[in-house]
Amino acid sequence: MDIKIPKLSLVVLIGASSAGKSTLARRLFKDTEIISSDACRAMVSDDENNMDATKDAFELLHFMVETRLRRGLLTVVDATSARIEDRAKLVALAKKYYVMPVAIVLNLPLKICAERNRERADRNIPFEIIANFVTLVKRAGRNLKEEGFKRVFEYRNQEQVDNIQRVFRE
Ligand code: ATP
Ligand code: MG
Repeated sequence: MDIKIPKLSLVVLIGASSAGKSTLARRLFKDTEIISSDACRAMVSDDENNMDATKDAFELLHFMVETRLRRGLLTVVDATSARIEDRAKLVALAKKYYVMPVAIVLNLPLKICAERNRERADRNIPFEIIANFVTLVKRAGRNLKEEGFKRVFEYRNQEQVDNIQRVFRE
């Protein structure tokens, strides 16, 4: 199955921690197209798990996203984007530059996210936080069109995610 998006899109991945956002982004998009909140955290604090760096990391993320959109470049935001405020900022940036906001939602079951989180070498997030993210992501799916996303692709299990062949840019 292919994903069809406009050539100039702001692709916002939405998913709990360990849902597989970074893995999917790397499979479908060029490295330089992906702006990740973890990479931004690392750039401002030397530690991609440093939650104290969140504010500065997102300032950097928004700056880089805005710069790319102003320059007419498709951009992918790799962050949880589980909260409506986080997405609103991104939709506003897309609108400012007449770029299409597109959402790719990894609405995977809590069991999978929690299992993967447990097995990760790079990061282990408390179960309650993952559970909270999963609830937010489930809720998000319903209102994304109203929030301004022009296209919404939602996946509810790993099989659906693995069936994504490629992104077709029209
Ligand atoms: P975070 O929000 O913490 O950055 P994430 O959504 O980016 O998490 P990933 O880092 O992509 O999640 O994946 C989390 C774990 O799940 C990794 O160990 C990865 O190998 C595994 N994983 C991701 N996608 C798949 C997949 N399609 N099949 C099997 N394992 C996967
Ligand atoms: Mg990631």
